Amino acid sequence: MRADPDKCIGCKRCFAYCPMGRIQSFRRHDRIPGRVFIEIDQDACTDCGCCLRADICPVNALYQPKESWPREVRGILSNPLIEFKGSQVPGRGTEEMKTNDVKGSYLPGEVGVGVELGRPGVGAYFRDVEIVAMALMAADIGYELAEENPVTHFMADKTTGKLRDDILNEKATSAIIEGKCKLEKLPEALRALKEAAKKVNTVFTVEVITKVTPEGEVPIKTVLDQMGVWYSINSKNNLGIGEPAFNFYPDREERRSP
Ligand code: SF4
Ligand code: SF4
Repeated sequence: MRADPDKCIGCKRCFAYCPMGRIQSFRRHDRIPGRVFIEIDQDACTDCGCCLRADICPVNALYQPKESWPREVRGILSNPLIEFKGSQVPGRGTEEMKTNDVKGSYLPGEVGVGVELGRPGVGAYFRDVEIVAMALMAADIGYELAEENPVTHFMADKTTGKLRDDILNEKATSAIIEGKCKLEKLPEALRALKEAAKKVNTVFTVEVITKVTPEGEVPIKTVLDQMGVWYSINSKNNLGIGEPAFNFYPDREERRSP
């Protein structure tokens, strides 16, 4: 994102809408006496478009130039209105997590392990995303990457989690590594992530996804309690927009869960 120096009046209105914090600095206009404009730090900006979409600039100074590769990746991951052509999914992924009732991505005995880097308010460089992805793949947990996910798509080697070299110094508001492993491997996955957390220069949240049993049991709870991990239980419920087409318990047809 850029601010046109010939239009910007340095009013600061756009500052509050930037999830990356104070990444703008003031400059004196060299041709208009007394005029101060802002310059957006191009390394810190993720091209998320929040400031532009807020439509608060009184002089329409903000504009998003068409970016070429590899900078283009910033908008793909950070601007929810840009559809990632690799999966036709707008935003950063999580398609597998949100459609489990329909697609059966996480079966009984399996857990989805997602890692969301960069939020809140910090952002994540892909070099840090790579560190976490490679830590998961190196751990002996049989981590299976989700296919319909931009981070998976940007991997040069899906067996190691290595990302393409040309995007490592690019940055996203947040990026999600998405995949799954067997329930019994969850402790090892969490230990690998704790080690990876010491090596990255950003924040991340771990999402552990499970299918709740027809009896209402949350299979991952025992593991998390035993490991002393703090967690917040959130749910994604299928309310009928997509038919629950997947039968998780074929031997218990009468208890097929919605
Ligand atoms: S595009 Fe996003 S990160 Fe860049 S200046 Fe605007 S709000 Fe901040
Ligand atoms: S809102 Fe517009 S005029 Fe005000 S500082 Fe931001 S870009 Fe400049």
